[in-house]
Amino acid sequence: MTAQTTPGDAGAEASETPTGSITTRTPDSVTGTGVVPGIAFAPVVWKQGRPELTPRMPEVPEENREAEAGRIEQAVETVATRLEHRASQATGVASEVLSATASLCRDRGWRRAAVKNVKRGTAAPQAVSAAIAQFITQFEKLGGLMAERTTDLRDIRDRVVAELLGQPEPGVPTPDTPSVLFADDLAPADTAGLDPTLITALVTQLGGPTSHTAIIARQLGIPCIVAASRIASIDDGVEVLVDGTTGTITVGVSQEEGRRLVEEDAARREAVRSWRGPARTRDGRDVELLANVQDGAGARKAAESQATGVGLFRTELCFLNSESEPSVSEQARIYGEVFAAFPGKKVVVRTLDAGSDKPLAFANMEDEENPALGVRGVRIGLRDVDLLTNQLDAVAEAAGKREQGADVQPWVMAPMIATVPEAKRFADLARERGIKPGIMVEVPSVALLAPRFLPHVDFFSIGTNDLSQYTMAADRMSPHLATLTDPWQPAVLTLIAMTADAGREAGKPVGVCGEAAADPLLACVLVGLGVTSLSMAASAVSGVGAQLATVTFEQCEQAAQAVLDATDSASARERARKVLTPQE
Ligand code: PEP
Ligand code: MG
Repeated sequence: MTAQTTPGDAGAEASETPTGSITTRTPDSVTGTGVVPGIAFAPVVWKQGRPELTPRMPEVPEENREAEAGRIEQAVETVATRLEHRASQATGVASEVLSATASLCRDRGWRRAAVKNVKRGTAAPQAVSAAIAQFITQFEKLGGLMAERTTDLRDIRDRVVAELLGQPEPGVPTPDTPSVLFADDLAPADTAGLDPTLITALVTQLGGPTSHTAIIARQLGIPCIVAASRIASIDDGVEVLVDGTTGTITVGVSQEEGRRLVEEDAARREAVRSWRGPARTRDGRDVELLANVQDGAGARKAAESQATGVGLFRTELCFLNSESEPSVSEQARIYGEVFAAFPGKKVVVRTLDAGSDKPLAFANMEDEENPALGVRGVRIGLRDVDLLTNQLDAVAEAAGKREQGADVQPWVMAPMIATVPEAKRFADLARERGIKPGIMVEVPSVALLAPRFLPHVDFFSIGTNDLSQYTMAADRMSPHLATLTDPWQPAVLTLIAMTADAGREAGKPVGVCGEAAADPLLACVLVGLGVTSLSMAASAVSGVGAQLATVTFEQCEQAAQAVLDATDSASARERARKVLTPQE
């Protein structure tokens, strides 16, 4: 293997891993974007590649086409039955994912297109490939969540084509010994039911911080690196050290060193597992840690964590399958479930963030050229004001149902605010209903003019996922731009600093509810920048709390200053790590 770094690392300062002994810029290292922290040391096992198609298969004679079409139906049945069998063996989310993939495999739409191709004389494997390619193009055009489904479609294609060609089923092999899984990308069906005692880390060439791979790794509690575009040169069986904090994959680490680093990491994980709060720095500075939820079930689960409330309730995710606007009482029932999970606690409801990556049939603007920059979030609610006021009425109604155990402190915030008049209009509508109004800081214009917004609202909540996208002009869904959409980018951190300064000056709370809040090291930096609350996936709360307990507020402030002076995301992360992690 030769010295390689990702393009975004060019110019990054020399660095060490958290334990300080392995240099990460040696000729034996490649880097990607670390999305789940932790250390693993094990041999590589590559996901089985795609089946090989011969460039042009002979035309199927007329009289054989019926039988050739039948082969497709048979292959679909075999693959779907196999997936269903795996679903029946798995539990929870894994089982749901496998069942959903089996349904997609049986989907009539693409099968009809494939059979049509065969009727024109195309051999079954190529007919399947072409039919699914057609759907992939359509889904990619739609963008957002639909575009994400293309990974599932490619997965189905590869499984069915392999079956037709009599090749082994592509996907994740079951290794004999604990291994690090390498792949170009991972489909939900690949990762559903992965055994974390056998697969100890995930490393992919594609994918971003919010990709399916990252979500699964977080659930399994194993380190994960995505966008590691240069791992192709590392073969099956080679022993690698994976550091999910720095995003580094190192070859050539001795057995002794590798084991020591894994043991230290295990001790760190144990500290996280046993952390019970309250959340504060070592010298006693309190930090509010909240959960991001999307429905009642998620809120009840979050209530079992150490989160002291909800910092982001993504209401639009409750209605992804609704054809028409849910009635006020139906909305109130759903919101009430979330309130009931946190009695007497703070719950921040975000009004519908429809559009772009979260399309809602009853709210979306049709046919936008560039939906991420289009009519999304509060822009929809301010055009169709009934949609917004109905939702605010539902929040007020749900919060008022104290007799049903929904006694909460409801806060409500609008996504995608860009101008002061928008903020003022939204705040007036919320106040008329007795709800505390705030706005999300996702568009750079709000951070730049933060002091002008604050007189109108009671709080800010910084959405770092979109703030990074809009600051860096980089699509958050693009697997190729993960370095740019990294919230460690100093430009993004500078906007956060400006927002927090304005909040402090006005004496109003400023939270962070994007993925950045879930990164334990970055969480300390955010606290140092003046952020007062952090909201994240409930599963991330203990990791952040345990990290905060190891540092002083002064260290957080020093780390904040250090990242603001950095030139790129890698060096910002490295500077923070030097200040925040104990050196041996
Ligand atoms: C964000 O943009 O950071 C955010 C929290 O909102 P979402 O990810 O739902 O767009
Ligand atoms: Mg957002």
